[in-house]
Amino acid sequence: MEVIKLSNIKKSFKENEVLKDINLTVNQSEVVVIMGPSGSGKSTLLRCITFLEEPNGGIVKLGKMEVEAGQPLNKKRKDTIRELRKNTGFVFQQFNLFPHKTALENVQEGPIVIKKSDPETAKAHAIELLTKVGLADRMDHYPSQLSGGQQQRVAIARALSMEPMVMLYDEPTSALDPELIREVLQVMKELAREGMTMIVVTHEMAFAKDVADRVIFMDGGLIIEEGSSDEIFNHPKEERTKRFLQDVT
Ligand code: ADP
Ligand code: MG
Repeated sequence: MEVIKLSNIKKSFKENEVLKDINLTVNQSEVVVIMGPSGSGKSTLLRCITFLEEPNGGIVKLGKMEVEAGQPLNKKRKDTIRELRKNTGFVFQQFNLFPHKTALENVQEGPIVIKKSDPETAKAHAIELLTKVGLADRMDHYPSQLSGGQQQRVAIARALSMEPMVMLYDEPTSALDPELIREVLQVMKELAREGMTMIVVTHEMAFAKDVADRVIFMDGGLIIEEGSSDEIFNHPKEERTKRFLQDVT
């Protein structure tokens, strides 16, 4: 079953054509890893999915929600974009936690404020999620009292608290010291195993080999090549993919 469908997504910043006709479908429980050189448009693509950046053209579908680029911003469109965001968990390179809130408060906030969940239910769910990401003993800590890996796991729990249809990760481990990367990838892997649908921008090849159902190589605002991790890493067809892999390995 199809969860996300991007059709003909285009995005330019002034003359800079950053996304040139991206088409991508992600099915339920599928893990898609996106790789590509810096500046190839990976972050912009993730941001276009939730209209954090408005595409210049194309259609974003998430479940039954559908938003076409370039339409007037009326109430219906605003509501659909809000729904789209509610149903998408976004994890950034910089963890973006609220610094003046504890781990627990960070995680329960979204459901209480945005979903109007009952605070006790939201709290119970937040405790469950923090326990799941291995932070049962850190719930009352502030972000500044946590390591980068712990902060990123709080960020993942926070994204999960909204019970999204899909998780989007934008280089979730690139700001972390090497010894903290594993604990974050481990949590992501566990979520994948449980059937979470996810799109992950990362250069962690071992993670991609282990977890990805499909690997996409992007360059210059285009999907150059896609396939299984074996196809992309061991038998790349395109010159640009080969060159990129030589550079990162
Ligand atoms: P990647 O994540 O693959 O490194 P990005 O999507 O961040 O690539 O960026 C792709 C291109 O878009 C780059 O040339 C970048 O400078 C440009 N870009 C990204 N965001 C903006 C923005 N808000 N304003 C202008 N240019 C941007
Ligand atoms: Mg990026």
